[in-house]
This record gives sequence, structure tokens and C-alpha cells, in this order.
Amino acid sequence: MLSRTSIAIVGGGLSGLYAAYLLEQEGIDYVLLDAQDRSGGRLLAADHQGARVDLGATWFWPEIQAEPWALVQALQLPTFRQPEAGDFLIDASPHMAPRRISAGTQESTASMRMAGGLAALADALRARLPSARLRLGHRVSAVHRLESGAVRIHAIGAQGPRELEAHQVLLALPPRLAVDSIAFAPPLPAALAKAWAACPTWMAPHAKYVALYPRPFWRAQGLSGAARSYAGPMAEIHDASPLQGAGALFGFIGIHASARRQLGEQALLAHCRQQMGRLFGAEALQPSAEWIKDWSQDAYTASAADTEGAGGHPTAPAMAAHEGPWQACLLGIGSEWSAQFPGYVAGAVDAATHGVQASLAAATLTKEQAGTAVKKETP
Ligand SMILES: Cc1cc2nc3c(=O)[nH]c(=O)nc-3n(C[C@H](O)[C@H](O)[C@H](O)COP(=O)(O)OP(=O)(O)OC[C@H]3O[C@@H](n4cnc5c(N)ncnc54)[C@H](O)[C@@H]3O)c2cc1C
Repeated sequence: MLSRTSIAIVGGGLSGLYAAYLLEQEGIDYVLLDAQDRSGGRLLAADHQGARVDLGATWFWPEIQAEPWALVQALQLPTFRQPEAGDFLIDASPHMAPRRISAGTQESTASMRMAGGLAALADALRARLPSARLRLGHRVSAVHRLESGAVRIHAIGAQGPRELEAHQVLLALPPRLAVDSIAFAPPLPAALAKAWAACPTWMAPHAKYVALYPRPFWRAQGLSGAARSYAGPMAEIHDASPLQGAGALFGFIGIHASARRQLGEQALLAHCRQQMGRLFGAEALQPSAEWIKDWSQDAYTASAADTEGAGGHPTAPAMAAHEGPWQACLLGIGSEWSAQFPGYVAGAVDAATHGVQASLAAATLTKEQAGTAVKKETP
């Protein structure tokens, strides 16, 4: 079945949702496809009896990243400062008691959190988009530039293969994943494909353990919930408590992705729980709920090079081809393409903003050249 639109957005994480939100405001015809049955991508929350905790991105920093802050304010979403009051723990060895460091003051650059987790930002954007524009559960497998100048997008949905024709495509997924999982015909320029494949997907090799408790009990012991560990399995631990009520702690697991896979989730859960108990006391051994989200095993985030590699912070590759058949009809707008904040939540907002602006400029050109209307086509 073939349908048509002006702009196809591939990926419904923050960059894709924000691009859709901007196009919606402009009255431009678009369709957003995401491989998964949910939107949000690396913004993901787990829920237990109404308490939501982040399994993906957690913080944003309004003092240095104005864009997401402006968006959060425009959407009127409640935020709060990362709780930091209390002592910090250094965990040098599993055979020694952790050392307490009196932190004294809060960090000068405020790390901000969102009530309901950062996934609430993705939820708020999605709630503002007409459902007819969204095709969840549609994995894009190929993108073909046609003789006519249009681009045909091939997707696999629950009901089988689907085809969509568009004037332009916005790739709202990590660059490495785009070249790894989508077949481009004709091929992308070799230098561009190489640069996209070389760009690490931020945080893709990592995994998080999150434990939810009836209350943030460590605060009564004068602890902030933050720890640095050289003993493991978690290397860095933070307070992840929701704004009110329950308490939560999370840790980045410091074991390589291949070792995590070998160990298995149940064993890893037990090791992480034990470490929480060793650092924060017996109450930490009794979470009301606990989760591990291993992003290296998420096929819609990590590609093989992310899973095997050490990660590292991306440097933004070029967003588009400057010549050839893909010029002006294919743009990368996932966070890693942001020149300002590659890999961050702020990068997703930044890259989507630039991508939509470039796309509208190119559409105006095409419209002038071809004398065709881009706005207000039917979905
Ligand atoms: C554990 C972790 C912690 C993080 N912490 C922070 C933090 O504290 N602060 C911060 O600023 N950033 C953080 N980040 C990074 C932040 O989450 C990302 O920068 C941001 O969410 C990226 O959004 P995106 O839309 O560009 O990409 P993604 O969120 O990766 O979205 C890509 C979307 O594309 C879809 N997709 C993939 N392949 C296909 C396909 N073939 N067809 C159709 N759809 C497809 C996926 O399903 C996904 O929904 C963290 C990330 C992780 C994993």
C-alpha cells in the first residue's frame, strides 16, 4: 500500500517528535514512522504504582542548554533540581566500608529533572500530534530516491510491508543506526556514509540499574544518594527519586556490554542490589521494584559498533549530502547530528530545529521551482 506526504520523519524519539511538533505548527504535511510500538526512543520511563523513574536520559542543564528549557517551559511541564544535599560515598573496595565525603554545597550548574521523568517531555509532544500522523511499529528498511525526484520509504509494519512517498526525509535516529539498518538507493555519498557510521551513539553501550523504594531513606542518614565506585558493578550512583513520595536510586553499570550479556539480567540485578545494600544499608536490599535497561541490547538504539566499542562522545557529522541525488531531500536530525550538543537531549531539540528549518527552506525552493504547494496536503 502506497501513501504520500511532504515530509517523512524516520524515528519518534525526541528529535522526531519535536520535528513533528514544529511541522504541525507550520501546517506542513508529514508522517512520522517509528520501529517500536512506543515513541520516546532514549527517553524512557518505568512505572510502578504511579511512581515513574528514568531508564534512559535523566538530566538537562538550563544554564548551558537554553533550547530544551524553553521547550519545557512552553509545554508547562513541572521540573525540579536533582537532589544533592548530603554526603557523597566513595566505594573503593567490596571489602571496605565506603568513605563519606562531605559535599557541602550543591553543584554550581543545576542538573534539572522532570516530574514523571524525561519521558514526560516525549509524552507531552506526542499528545500534541494527531494520531493519524504517527505510524508506530513501522521499521524503515529502505529509502529510495526515484527518477521523479520523490523519495520512497519502505517500512515493515505489523500488517506487512508499507510504502510511503515523500518530498523529503528527516532521519531522526542515530547516524550510525541509519547507515547500519536502512538501505539507501542510490547509495549515500561514500564520505557521508563513512562519517555517519563512525559517529558513536551517545550512551548506547551503557546500562542502568534503577531501584524504587517506599521512601528516600538514605536522606535521614545524611547521604545524598550519590556514590562513585571502583568496586562495582555500578560505577556511578545517583538519587533518582520522583518529585514526591517514593525514593529511588540508579546506577550506571561499569561492566562492558559483552560481560553483561554473559552474566545475564537476573545475576546482574542481584549484584547491583547487593552493592546498593553494601553502600546504603539493609533497606536498600528491599526495593519495591527494580529494573535493568541495557541500551546496548536495544536494536533501535545501538548498532554492533556501539555494543563492541567503548562509546565516547560524538562529534556531529554533516547532516546532509552537499551534492548528488540525496542533496536537499535527506537530512539527519537525530541528536548526534547537533553541532552544539551532539548526543544530548538538547542536541535532539537543536538538530530537529535546524533540520526543520533547512527542510522548509528546501521545500520553498522546490515549490518555487515546480510551482507546487507543499502546505496543507491531506495525510
Ligand atoms: C542511559 C542513557 C542516559 C542518558 N542520559 C542523558 C542525560 O542525562 N542528559 C542528556 O542530555 N542526554 C542523555 N542521554 C542521551 C539522550 O537520551 C539522547 O540524546 C536523546 O534522547 C536522543 O533523541 P533522538 O530522538 O535523537 O534519538 P532516539 O531517542 O535514539 O530516537 C530514535 C528513534 O528512532 C527509532 N528507530 C530506530 N531505527 C528505526 C528504523 N529503522 N525505522 C524507524 N524507526 C527507527 C527508535 O525506535 C527511536 O524511537 C542518555 C541516553 C541514555 C541511553
